[in-house]
Amino acid sequence: MHPFKVGLLVLLASCLGMVAAGPSAARNIVTNRAPLRARPFLDLPLGTIEPRGWMRVQLERMRDGLTGDLDQRYPKIIGPRNGWLGGDGDGWERGPYWLDGLVPLAYILKDEKLIAKARPWIEWTLNNQEPSGYLGPKRFEREPTAEAGIQKTPREDWWPRMVMLKVLQQHHSATGDRRVVDVLLRYFRYQLTELRKTPLDHWSFWANRRGADNLMVVYWLYNVTGESFLLELADVIHQQTFPYTDVFLNTRPAPSPDLAHLYPYNTGNRYPFKPELIRRLSVGQLQSFHCVNLAQGIKAPLVYYQQHPEARYFDAVKQAFADVKKFHGQPQGMYGGDEPMHGNDPTQGVELCSVVELMFSLETMLGITGDLDFADHLERIAFNALPAQTTEDYRHRQYFQSANQVLCSRARRNFYEEDYHGNTDNVFGLLTGYPCCTCNMHQGWPKLVQNLWHATPDDGIAALVYGPSEVSFNAAGNVPVRIVEETRYPFEETIRFLVTPQKPVEFPIRLRIPAWATAARVRVNDQEWSNSPTNRLLTLKRTWKEGDVVTLDFTAEVRTSRWVENSVAVERGPLVYALRIEEDWRHVKNSDQYGDYYEVYPQSPWNYGLLESAVKTPTNGFKLVRRSNDAAYPWGLKGAPVELRAQGKRIPEWQLYNHRAGPLPHSRPSQHLQRERSEDIVLVPHGCTRLRVTEFPVVK
Ligand SMILES: [Zn+2]
Repeated sequence: MHPFKVGLLVLLASCLGMVAAGPSAARNIVTNRAPLRARPFLDLPLGTIEPRGWMRVQLERMRDGLTGDLDQRYPKIIGPRNGWLGGDGDGWERGPYWLDGLVPLAYILKDEKLIAKARPWIEWTLNNQEPSGYLGPKRFEREPTAEAGIQKTPREDWWPRMVMLKVLQQHHSATGDRRVVDVLLRYFRYQLTELRKTPLDHWSFWANRRGADNLMVVYWLYNVTGESFLLELADVIHQQTFPYTDVFLNTRPAPSPDLAHLYPYNTGNRYPFKPELIRRLSVGQLQSFHCVNLAQGIKAPLVYYQQHPEARYFDAVKQAFADVKKFHGQPQGMYGGDEPMHGNDPTQGVELCSVVELMFSLETMLGITGDLDFADHLERIAFNALPAQTTEDYRHRQYFQSANQVLCSRARRNFYEEDYHGNTDNVFGLLTGYPCCTCNMHQGWPKLVQNLWHATPDDGIAALVYGPSEVSFNAAGNVPVRIVEETRYPFEETIRFLVTPQKPVEFPIRLRIPAWATAARVRVNDQEWSNSPTNRLLTLKRTWKEGDVVTLDFTAEVRTSRWVENSVAVERGPLVYALRIEEDWRHVKNSDQYGDYYEVYPQSPWNYGLLESAVKTPTNGFKLVRRSNDAAYPWGLKGAPVELRAQGKRIPEWQLYNHRAGPLPHSRPSQHLQRERSEDIVLVPHGCTRLRVTEFPVVK
């Protein structure tokens, strides 16, 4: 956006009655209001951060792909009969899921067509609130008979409303629509009364597990309005939400079998909340959580921490991340959870909803705490797991991906839900697996763009996650500033920031130093910047003038990480690397409920181990090659901008088992392959692959 337009936007926003608390009010930014703990990083209005380079191409592919035309391709659900448009059809999460990605995409791209697609849903929701404050699909006078594939009831469930709350908050951020504030005040008053009779887990266990999504919007509205009943409501919602803090801190659980029945997914939606039993669960247990509930719930302690800043909430989240990695972790930043948590075998499934929801949780916790570990983890998922789970044209997606995924086909696998989804969990389709992801996947990329930049309470700006982009904001004294971030990150480690203030102005620019960087060099207009970072955050405070350029150079080295059976993953910078396997895509025409899909078959061998010598000294054992082709779209085998060349040996006994890579040979290199010859192998970024080996055995 042109900087001079920012002033107009702020003026317009103030006419529309946007309210902000604290010293940044002039910048149209919502800050935490006492007694909530101050936030170190603040959200910028939706639309002020724009993607450039490959990131813009990614968002344009969403516009031209599934996000832009889901209403055409999935009209039975995302169509006029949807309950969120006043109809008698689907009245649950899928409509709001789509909007949760469509709205930020529309305003980030400033695309009138997409804005027009979202409008009827927003208008219907805002204009059809009941006098009681009830919001959303009209309740049926008589329960309808269930239609397969349509989630018509329970209409009153608290859960799908939580998604719509996030949608309305984003709509307000982009437009300043004052009706959002009034409608949400009425809804939250209704909730405060109604939750005493019908608590979060009354209609479904989902709302109980996902209460933090409700809570964060309650805090946002408190910051906007200062209405004290909202803090009372916040405590009620927290008390009725699954006790994540206790469970995360419980590292001495009862053995799994006697608690397995607590995983309620297959016992119907109505499930009693039994705190005395649930508190004996732990992250390490199989089936302790539904995979998407964990991705959403992991932020619950730190969302509540804003109101009650006690160390145990922080400790609980840190412990949870450590345990998730230890017991279920995969190198792309996710975890084995093909419905319930399913351990750390690299062929277990990772649901696409878990990917985008864990990203959103990390983004939320980053703003609340300023802890840069959350930014590192966010990049690991965004630049590895996220691009790998959709097709390059963003028209098809997998329900489950895996770290070691050597075949995508319709077949029985070791996933928890093996027959329930017609064995279509890992093919690429529209309705394969389960269609929640078809609707929920859209929030991933736009919200990442929205989290590249944050305002800081001292009228500065912070780049916490990197990617080609530009940001427009008002610095100290309301001076409009535009910063363009030029980079091919994460495929290169150099980033140039072109700073353009409307007139010279002093303010701080803060830059994150990633945990993987072995060195960081910063120059301002070719002068070295010698101040050192605090907690990996570098502060460049000076008077900025038009034409200033900041150049950031990170040093990245090839490194390895260890996983189950002592296997090894290869990493460099924010990227995890995977064996390049040639892909044969086969279109399958299919008339059952799962529709057409693509299978992917390997056209080159995959059963390689890495040489122990390379693993011991990875800087020598893996050679970085930057490919000269500068394809606009990097997330495919053809366009992969970087690769690592190394040597490996095929392990004859490592073969397909149950249509997946068989059990991982333990990496205690024995002599039995010593006479076999080694071969040249190529590793490419995980996000560029749809077939891959990421967790490698090690051989002599
Ligand atoms: Zn899903």
